[in-house]
Amino acid sequence: MSSIFEYAPAPETTKPAIREQYGLFINGAWVAPQSGKYFDTVNPATEETLARVAYASPEDVDRAVRAARKAYDKYWRKMRPADRAKYIYRIARAITERSRELAVLETLDGGKPIKESRDFDVPTAAAHFFYYAGWADKLEWAMRAGREPEPLGVAGQIVPWNFPLLMAAWKVAPALACGNTVVLKPAETTPLTALALAQIIQEADLPPGVVNVVTGDGATGAALVSHDDVDKIAFTGSTEVGKAIQRSLAGTRKRLTLELGGKAAHIVFADAPMEQAIEGVVNGIYFNQGHVCCAGSRLLVQESVHDELVVRLTERLQTLRLGNPIDKNTDIGAINSRAQLDKITELVQSGIDQGAVLVQQSCTLPDRGYYFPASFFTNVQMSHRIAREEIFGPVLSILTFRTPDEALEKANNTPYGLSAGVWTDKGSKNMYIAQHLRAGVVWCNTFNQFDPSSPFGGYKESGFGREGGVHGLYEYLAH
Ligand code: NAP
Ligand code: MG
Repeated sequence: MSSIFEYAPAPETTKPAIREQYGLFINGAWVAPQSGKYFDTVNPATEETLARVAYASPEDVDRAVRAARKAYDKYWRKMRPADRAKYIYRIARAITERSRELAVLETLDGGKPIKESRDFDVPTAAAHFFYYAGWADKLEWAMRAGREPEPLGVAGQIVPWNFPLLMAAWKVAPALACGNTVVLKPAETTPLTALALAQIIQEADLPPGVVNVVTGDGATGAALVSHDDVDKIAFTGSTEVGKAIQRSLAGTRKRLTLELGGKAAHIVFADAPMEQAIEGVVNGIYFNQGHVCCAGSRLLVQESVHDELVVRLTERLQTLRLGNPIDKNTDIGAINSRAQLDKITELVQSGIDQGAVLVQQSCTLPDRGYYFPASFFTNVQMSHRIAREEIFGPVLSILTFRTPDEALEKANNTPYGLSAGVWTDKGSKNMYIAQHLRAGVVWCNTFNQFDPSSPFGGYKESGFGREGGVHGLYEYLAH
């Protein structure tokens, strides 16, 4: 579909304060890694190197855990909760003050559209610090009668690359509010906003060692998981790595929360408001190039409206703008890494091979960088890999159903259970479906709504434990 006018380029200015090289943030200071090793982090939209980042070896992780333990014993657990709150508010305000810089950094390092990092990631990260700052001196109100709120100690926190700053905020804010100290391990491809958060924490003058940031790869994460003096591991990432962590912690005293993958059902009934449903579907799968654990990646459409929905979705696809994520008009940015692009390409090929029909936006992909056009499959069978495996890219699989119970059966026929969505004009149908979906979050006539006061987490192989809300506090308190 040709549009009546074209958008002129509207790039955000890109002069964030990126250092050439980053050390590790341990005990309140920037230190060189004992490993002596550094690795590059690149901009996936252009393949340019942005910075060199320290590689934390097990010895470096050990230093960070010791610093966190000392800070826990010496300062943080003893501090008046109202004073802890002041520090957390300070972090929240600094994120707000530096929001533009953080948004640019997030987009450069990870490839997500600037409009998303600016309007979603950064404000929602600040909101989590504001929210949990408010809880720090009210923890007894979250406890069952007669119980005193007791922190756990040192929390090892491992986050993925799809929402780097936001996932760090989800983890750091409740841990600090409850009186724990932290060692944070960002993903290898997106360390820059976690390092900017470390700068903010340093400037906010938190006692040294309360938050430590160790950059590296999977081995760095594994060293944190297996460290003897860590009291809790909070992990967000793939189900595969989550299972390995669970196995390695079995039989230890360490507490664990796992936020893992998903293959969410997005159910559209014939009586749904179709325009809104299409926008919900688009937001559900193409937000952040589909690099979203709770993405609505399995669309279940009632048979009688399937053809109409496919026609409309095909039209809508052509209006999405794919390109450099730093442009304020970009809807579909870059795929986070070459490895992820290969994974998406392989799964899409399996869909074609297994007989599904591929529809893609027609657009020219930039010469450099990692890109994949917004896509969907029709003629999908429940047994296809694209209907069962998490693609983690801008690819939707469309299936049909006839009755509400068939929709439920198909929706729940998955090893995952993180999120789901329902579109119908009937309130009672919404309630019935939501009650019977085995998913941690169910959105009715909307999708991808997040609020720090609302708990988030999985069923089945999507993990256990909750982040956000009062429930998120319990994961950082002894009980
Ligand atoms: P991943 O490979 O599991 O990595 C997640 C984090 O764990 C990264 O920091 C990674 O480090 C680290 N890691 C890798 N191997 C490790 C090991 N053996 N021990 C300890 N840590 C290790 O996942 P990903 O591909 O980056 O992220 C995408 C996945 O995250 C998807 O499955 C998605 O659904 C899930 N996710 C879930 C949620 C949720 O709330 N449920 C939210 C967002 C994403 P390196 O990256 O440096 O290797
Ligand atoms: Mg990067």
